[in-house]
Amino acid sequence: MSRFLNSFHKNLLPYTPGEQPVDMQYIKLNTNESPFPPSEKVIKAINETEISKLNLYSDPECTALVKRFAGLYNVKPENILFGNGSDEILQYCFYSFCGEDKKAIFADITYGFYSVFADLFHIPTDIIPLNDDFTLPLDRFKNAGGTVFIANPNAPTGLALTKNEIIEVLESNKDDVVVIDEAYVDFGAESVVDLIGTYKNLIVVQTFSKARSYAGGRLGMCFADKELINDMKMIKYSLNPYNIDRLSMAAGIAAADDDAYYKNNAKTIIENRAWLVDELHALGFEILDSKANFIFAQHPTYDGKRMYLQLKDRGVLVRHFDKERISNFNRITIGTKDQLTVLVDTIKAIIKE
Ligand code: PMP
Repeated sequence: MSRFLNSFHKNLLPYTPGEQPVDMQYIKLNTNESPFPPSEKVIKAINETEISKLNLYSDPECTALVKRFAGLYNVKPENILFGNGSDEILQYCFYSFCGEDKKAIFADITYGFYSVFADLFHIPTDIIPLNDDFTLPLDRFKNAGGTVFIANPNAPTGLALTKNEIIEVLESNKDDVVVIDEAYVDFGAESVVDLIGTYKNLIVVQTFSKARSYAGGRLGMCFADKELINDMKMIKYSLNPYNIDRLSMAAGIAAADDDAYYKNNAKTIIENRAWLVDELHALGFEILDSKANFIFAQHPTYDGKRMYLQLKDRGVLVRHFDKERISNFNRITIGTKDQLTVLVDTIKAIIKE
């Protein structure tokens, strides 16, 4: 740390992204990306239309993109905001709706960026421990007295709340914003986008990084009442009005035009997840009931960290968190059947040794 750093940041613990190795080719099952490429339409839209216009700034209002998704999700354009990945949208949420007098409320085991944003903006928090079985203690999120952040499905557990459970949280927090982070919603959980008309305090955040195969492009979005969107826009226009570049704007529109391709890929991921769960159960693993494109698994006798390291040595990358309560688990992204077959064979070999 240099002596010039603003002392406001001296205790900041930044987010640790999953490994993005460049040393060798891994079977990469560690950051919940899609194993499938973007749709041909997306590749064509980037290559053939927008790339030659990069000398010009992008449209800060994302007019065409917003219009396309308003149609796809059956909401008004005024109810949508796009971000440079959903991390940026989450950042807007913390910046706009939390502060010294408005704490942020989230689970102890959830997406790691929530606590980083709270630290970055010096926001007080109420961190609620998950139950022993890693389910969310719903009652603790009712009348919570601050801005609520829930990943649904949760990460890294993969467990999901039902729509009715989210309605209970919304009903009991009418004077506070409730942010539902649906990064993984396309793999089996219920979305609550259709509730934004009923609950003026609801923000639903989604990403193009998972089911829409666009993690490397950076595109996320949220759905909410117009007033909440305008609050977040104020922050956006104070940070980076051109947050969505031309390529991502074209990619997003083309992705909407090929929605069936992505839905079909999500279906394949769900099938592969069921296959992997069966295979790992047969090897004695305990696995939480995932509704996401990853599973969270531990072996009763084989140490989780050791498993992660041995898999890495053999070219298979999964995600291990050195964190209390979950240090025996590994989070495994659902890849193609070929990738998962290699994973299972490698685990079998490791266990046998
Ligand atoms: N929410 C959750 C729960 C996540 O796990 C992630 C990243 N993996 C994000 C949001 C952010 O994703 P992105 O910025 O790529 O849209």
